[in-house]
Amino acid sequence: MSSGTATPARPYQADFLREVEREVEGGEWVRMCMQCGVCAGSCPFGPHWEHSPQKIFMMIRAGQREQVLTSESMWMCTSCYNCVVRCPRELPITTIMHGLASYSQRLGLAPKMQPTRDFSLAFYDNFKRTGRVNEMKITLWVYFKDGFVAGLKKAWAMRHVGFGLLKAGRLNPLEILGGHRCKDSKGIEAMLAKVQQIEQRGKAGR
Ligand code: SF4
Ligand code: SF4
Repeated sequence: MSSGTATPARPYQADFLREVEREVEGGEWVRMCMQCGVCAGSCPFGPHWEHSPQKIFMMIRAGQREQVLTSESMWMCTSCYNCVVRCPRELPITTIMHGLASYSQRLGLAPKMQPTRDFSLAFYDNFKRTGRVNEMKITLWVYFKDGFVAGLKKAWAMRHVGFGLLKAGRLNPLEILGGHRCKDSKGIEAMLAKVQQIEQRGKAGR
């Protein structure tokens, strides 16, 4: 039971911009944003996002740490680079958005059950041991992640695509037994372990 003296979450943290500059890939660019709104207007997903990149950068500078790091907006970025080619200040907006998503995941603040985040984690898990994506396993994950019946319905709805892929040799049911590995899967594993190690240390360790 609460003692009634718990410290309320701080809505603003003045040092959040510094934290982003230190910990987030591309974060040192955030202070260069002049809030022109071109990125917000250029993003094809703009109307569907909670916060546009322009707003996210403003919130970072305002110290709205929790609102930024728990937001699902960064997970919606499709890396189309529309914003990057149009930004008058040449901010690496895509890199920053993915950097923020990755940082929120490292801190355990990323929104749970966010479809893009879930897919990213499943995709990473799928390829990390063999160095290549197992199409059969990732397809089954996408179909059956919401339950067996939902999976059957999705598989039935997509049967024409599935049979087309089988016919073209793009989907091999035997991949479910393990599938191919890239030649140097141990090297891939070591490389990914190193990346994780660097990320844990933060940008200062790079
Ligand atoms: S286009 Fe560039 S300068 Fe303009 S709001 Fe977006 S990030 Fe900031
Ligand atoms: S790269 Fe991401 S943030 Fe930029 S316009 Fe495309 S979807 Fe929007």
